[in-house]
Amino acid sequence: MPVHLLFTEETLNARLNSRVDSMVAQGLLAEIRQFYERFVKPYDDNDFHRGILQSIGFKEFVRYLEKYDRDQDRLVEEAMAATGEGAANPPEGLPLLRSCLDNLKLVTQRYSKKQLKWINHRFLVDGPREVPPIYPLDTTDVSRWTEIVSGPAVRLIEAHLSAIEESNLAAILAPLPKHASPRAGLNEETSFHCDICQRTIVGEYQWADHLKSNRHKKCLQSKHKKEKLGC
Ligand SMILES: [Zn+2]
Repeated sequence: MPVHLLFTEETLNARLNSRVDSMVAQGLLAEIRQFYERFVKPYDDNDFHRGILQSIGFKEFVRYLEKYDRDQDRLVEEAMAATGEGAANPPEGLPLLRSCLDNLKLVTQRYSKKQLKWINHRFLVDGPREVPPIYPLDTTDVSRWTEIVSGPAVRLIEAHLSAIEESNLAAILAPLPKHASPRAGLNEETSFHCDICQRTIVGEYQWADHLKSNRHKKCLQSKHKKEKLGC
């Protein structure tokens, strides 16, 4: 039974950021240093766009790992763990590591947005595909966790296990409404010809999409320019 944990974007990003910080506190640097020394440094044809090297949480640190060594790692870790920012002599590698961490935070936030978009598209759009109801649990306010998250979740699962009809589960928690697909009711086979771009487009949705596209707008602009020059 799918449940969808909801949160405001602000809450989510703050949580993602603090997750990165706690990964560092728990020894991320030592772990990626070991991986780097063993699997990356000995080779000179590393491709950071493929395989495990492209995974989030490693490639963002390569700049730092290449430039500094384990001794610097220790100093940087000490400086980051020290309470009270602005130590008199921050280690040389600290600014670069911080910039790598900022980058990791950004990439993680971007990835989470992609996941949310995927969930929305896959589960919350009304379409020909059969999708199970999705139950929303708002996790923004952790101080009410039992009341609004774990409590309803457990009640839902118990009801589900005792084979209560799916339609009756809504009494415990209403599932998220499905919204209409942007393609609903549109003809997928009609073809259109764009005189401006000299392109043929199939499908009403794709046609509307084309008219809004940058490609079409650019063609339109250059056509206007040519017309002006022609006058
Ligand atoms: Zn066009």
